[in-house]
Amino acid sequence: MSIQQKIQTLRDELNQHNYKYYVLDNATISDYDFDIKLKELANLEAENPQYFDANSPTQRVGGEITKNFKTITHKNRMYSLDNSYSKQDLLDWEKRLQKMLGTDAIEYTCELKYDGASINLTFENGKFIKAVTRGDGFQGDEVTANIRTIKSIPLQVNNFFLGDFEMRGEIILPLDGFHKMNQERLENDEEPYKNPRNTASGSLKLQDSAAVSKRPLDCLLYQVVTENRKYKTHFEILENARNVGFKVPETITLVSSIDAIFEFINYWDIERHHLPYETDGVVVKVNNLQQQEELGYTSKSPRWAIAYKFKAEQVSTILHEITYQVGRTGAITPVANLEPVQLAGTIVKRASLHNADQIEKLDIRINDTVFVEKGGEIIPKIIAVDLSKRPENSKPTQYATHCPECNTELVRSEGDAKHYCPNEFGCAPQITGRIQHFISRKAMDIDGLGGETVDLLRKEGLIQNYADLYDLKTEQIIPLERMAEKSAQNMIAGIEKSKEIPFEKVLFALGIRFVGETVAKKLAKHFKSIDKLMTADLETLISVDEIGDRIAQSIIDFSNNLENIQLINRLKLHGVQLEVSAESLENQTDKLAEKVFVVSGVFHQMSRNELKKAIEDNGGKVSSSISKKTSFIVAGDNMGPSKLTKAESLEIPIISEQDFMDMIK
Ligand code: AMP
Ligand code: ZN
Repeated sequence: MSIQQKIQTLRDELNQHNYKYYVLDNATISDYDFDIKLKELANLEAENPQYFDANSPTQRVGGEITKNFKTITHKNRMYSLDNSYSKQDLLDWEKRLQKMLGTDAIEYTCELKYDGASINLTFENGKFIKAVTRGDGFQGDEVTANIRTIKSIPLQVNNFFLGDFEMRGEIILPLDGFHKMNQERLENDEEPYKNPRNTASGSLKLQDSAAVSKRPLDCLLYQVVTENRKYKTHFEILENARNVGFKVPETITLVSSIDAIFEFINYWDIERHHLPYETDGVVVKVNNLQQQEELGYTSKSPRWAIAYKFKAEQVSTILHEITYQVGRTGAITPVANLEPVQLAGTIVKRASLHNADQIEKLDIRINDTVFVEKGGEIIPKIIAVDLSKRPENSKPTQYATHCPECNTELVRSEGDAKHYCPNEFGCAPQITGRIQHFISRKAMDIDGLGGETVDLLRKEGLIQNYADLYDLKTEQIIPLERMAEKSAQNMIAGIEKSKEIPFEKVLFALGIRFVGETVAKKLAKHFKSIDKLMTADLETLISVDEIGDRIAQSIIDFSNNLENIQLINRLKLHGVQLEVSAESLENQTDKLAEKVFVVSGVFHQMSRNELKKAIEDNGGKVSSSISKKTSFIVAGDNMGPSKLTKAESLEIPIISEQDFMDMIK
């Protein structure tokens, strides 16, 4: 078998496994074996760059950075849908159709209205070419690199249409993926995402496609736009799309009367709460494509389709109490404790109240009867008070003035919606929360130590801060509840091992307010050691790319605190990595400082990602599009012709891979 054939075979095989896993939900290979094959393919591709293909399964992990999304005019306009709210609306619609078509026999498809962001996928000769958001319907943003990372979208389909076609669908974030993402955000003490729809559409506009690839996005398809007249009905076309590998939900149903449409609506109004993703209604379409064409479009929507929106579920219940939660940074979140009530398939006992302003704005009081809604948001929210049921002796809510955990007076700084408990080192949930964050997977990743154990160790007086972890002895742990010699040893070994964790992660682990994972990386790279970071002044800090006043001030506050200084010193004595290691420094220089590079084409000596890393390691910046600011273009084989013209017109030097290597030597 030639190399080329071998590459193709691996690609086909991996595509097939992606299809089974992400579309059919039926894996026939272990993750491990999949990764081995993927690695094998990646190696072959790296050694044989002439066979590069943007649609190879190796490209699904992303890596391409898009700074400015290109505006693209849709070849076929992406329309909105008319809405209906009652059976009468649907009957009226049917009458109009019958009159226009001159027949009473009309077939319809009923589909769920998937709640996400619409996308238009262009395929040419069975190959995925580009993805564009709906935008205003006439023009959208090109988000191809990001969409390519969604593994349920086939990048190559055979035996569908010989010609070109557009596939329309909805990018969604399934509920369990959404919950997992929020779980992680909570662990990092970040504000959870509000709802799956906004998170899905926000994901499409992330600049780093590698970050998109980590999000559990999915794509549900609902329409094919084509000149090809091979298929006669919408239903048939979607069935075929499903057969060639597109994820077309099986819920689509063929009916021939308004009554049957209503049966579908009533069924899904209840059952939707058991779906793995959110839906906000039903879309009814005329099935016959010829009839669709005859009906055509109004100025904003097709006449052959109509949406029916489910009503957002709302209930009223009594608010018994407002309690306050304290996060790891001391942020206070008010929580409404409700008389338990059935809502959207679950029993709701608590609702989020966001902050003091929200409570004041709605004038929410204890013992009020309140309306609770579970719309797009996952945590139900109180939307209004039923004033007619307000008890006579009711008094406006006084927001907590003191911390419910340590009784310290709360503070609220200007422009901040939240109150904080300033007792950083004496407030139990803050102490526990900070240590839990320190040991979490993306931080020090300490095996053998869980969140509950941290709380136990704190209660037992064994730890008060993260530096104390490194003083723990096996003998102190064994006597604790649910501990044994083995688990105690594992814990100590895990703590010991964390001393190898690189500086950028340690910096994140410290839990400085507003210093998340990416900011920590930036800071580590720039300052290279905790000492340099902690002695930097405001001006130096904000001169770092993407570091603003808010982050800078937070770092300064952290650095000026005596307790933090002592903690850092203790971590240092224990051998925790508080500077960038010599090894990773070795490959880093500022040779390319202030230089902006655009990388284009296929390379031989290193992969595109290695090249980008080399640019960044040497202090340069990588940009995805050519502008006046571009210093150099590193061109490999097959550099895109439009890039070439642009580079020439702006007179930007084009250098080869070898020229680049010489530059950094
Ligand atoms: P609207 O934004 O309310 O005008 O509704 C139109 C949008 O509904 C389209 O742009 C699609 O993104 C979305 N949609 C979701 N599910 C479907 C479906 N099954 N058929 C057509 N459109 C759908
Ligand atoms: Zn407190």
